[in-house]
Amino acid sequence: MYHLAGERIVSEWEALISSANQKCLSTIFNLVQENSGDLAHYFYDNMLNDEDASSFLSHEEVKTRLSQSLQKWLINLYNITPNYDLKATLQQQITVGEVHARIKIPIHLVLRGARFLKVRFASILQHSQLEQQQANVCYQLYCNLIDIAMELMSQAYTVSSDKGSRSEEVYRMFSISQNLATERERQKAALLDWENKLMFEFTLGAEGVQLPALRYSDFGLWFHHKGAHAFSDYPETKTIASAMQQIDDELLPQFSEVTPADKLHILRRIRDASHNIKFHLDDIFSRSGEMEHGRDVLTRLLNRKFLPTVLSRQISHARVHDSTFAIILLDVDYFKLINDTHGHEAGDAVLKQLSSVLINSCRSGDFVFRMGGEEFLIVLVDIELKAAKLVAEKMRKKIANELFELPSKTNINITASLGLAVYEGHPDYEVLLRLADQALYDAKHQGRNLVATRTSESNSTV
Ligand code: GH3
Ligand code: MG
Ligand code: MG
Repeated sequence: MYHLAGERIVSEWEALISSANQKCLSTIFNLVQENSGDLAHYFYDNMLNDEDASSFLSHEEVKTRLSQSLQKWLINLYNITPNYDLKATLQQQITVGEVHARIKIPIHLVLRGARFLKVRFASILQHSQLEQQQANVCYQLYCNLIDIAMELMSQAYTVSSDKGSRSEEVYRMFSISQNLATERERQKAALLDWENKLMFEFTLGAEGVQLPALRYSDFGLWFHHKGAHAFSDYPETKTIASAMQQIDDELLPQFSEVTPADKLHILRRIRDASHNIKFHLDDIFSRSGEMEHGRDVLTRLLNRKFLPTVLSRQISHARVHDSTFAIILLDVDYFKLINDTHGHEAGDAVLKQLSSVLINSCRSGDFVFRMGGEEFLIVLVDIELKAAKLVAEKMRKKIANELFELPSKTNINITASLGLAVYEGHPDYEVLLRLADQALYDAKHQGRNLVATRTSESNSTV
């Protein structure tokens, strides 16, 4: 844990303390200790009044726990005695940052809190007996220590929430990709089961609260605890949730209040809502099947969902190792014509064979994505411009020389255009994607079956 602090910040913290005026340090400590209750009160008053921040806090919790721990944190931070334990203080900031990440408090709220602590301390200094000059020095030191603690907290926060979102994504993929086909059938059956139970109870004369609520059925529990999370990217998930809510909170309670004829009408509405749920569920399952393991169904290549993750990781790697990598955006030439002449199935066969050609033209550490349609993206890891150009050119030739076998057993030739761009240090991968896209555009406009390169410097074809 402690290694997170990094050499630099440890020595900066030490330097800050050793260069500090001793008298000033003890003045700050005394003021903080005397006024810790007031500082915490001011801090939480403002936080509870803030709409964003208050959702993380309750009055009760502030009174019983949080106010005390903030006061302790402040006193520890400024309790700088000769046998001061810097390591423990650093560790405390790291731990606080990790807790913030775990409970997902946005960093800007933490920084806002730090600002309140500064504002309040300024007014405490004003009301103290200190001379202006001395008060200024104390204020500066007080702020420097808060800032450096915040820096450490934010660092721990970022590392921790990175890990968190990675495992969340893995979990999400896991929870939807596990036996997708069986899960789909099981949930459809569970929904039907609930519907049958409802009809049965209804026939027996049960009413209102005696009727089984959908949210507590097997299907309802699965949906709330797993399905809604796994499928949170799909807008239909909200539609299903509101159809369930309509059944449980609007339609079922009406049973007790209406005439027998109207009861049948409500039953019909419930059945419609339930069919609606089944329809959307089927649809979501089909579409998420395509995303199974993040692979494209037709070609088994990676789909674009993981592109941001892969590119961000490449950029971090390149920065740490002072290396570069390249991306190639590749689009089949006149692909529509293949579909038009030989049929869609033939087009599919070409795309499948092409993906093997692409995989065989790069190293196993490289990444090949199908971006959609007949467009592919290749990430060439640890490579410089000159070598990347050779790889792209080899790839282009290989495609042009390959005989593509159609389901009708005829063979055809195809060509592709390639846009190449190499990472040049910009932290935002969108910049790199844009360069590759412009390069592909150049290749198409210069006659197709070509490799074009764009660099940010010339930002022109090379
Ligand atoms: P250009 O050289 O300018 O790239 O011409 P193009 O015909 O390749 O480009 P255009 O974008 O006009 O057409 C792409 C075609 O790819 C249109 C679409 O029907 C077809 N397509 C997209 N996805 C698939 C697929 O999964 N299978 C098949 N068979 N065809 C697809
Ligand atoms: Mg094309
Ligand atoms: Mg295209």
